[in-house]
Amino acid sequence: MINSAESEPESLIETPEERRERFLLEFEKPFKCEKCNERFKKKKYLREHKAEIHSY
Ligand SMILES: [Zn+2]
Repeated sequence: MINSAESEPESLIETPEERRERFLLEFEKPFKCEKCNERFKKKKYLREHKAEIHSY
């Protein structure tokens, strides 16, 4: 018996390429701005970003 109604929405399926990309992104840019979710390679960049974009 085949339960076709149980197929997952495609948007939830992550391809190996996407997983790898996400992993590399998090590995390369571990410093995330919690206000706009932008990522930075170095803590210094994040600090500069915050001072520039979220200074007020
Ligand atoms: Zn930001």
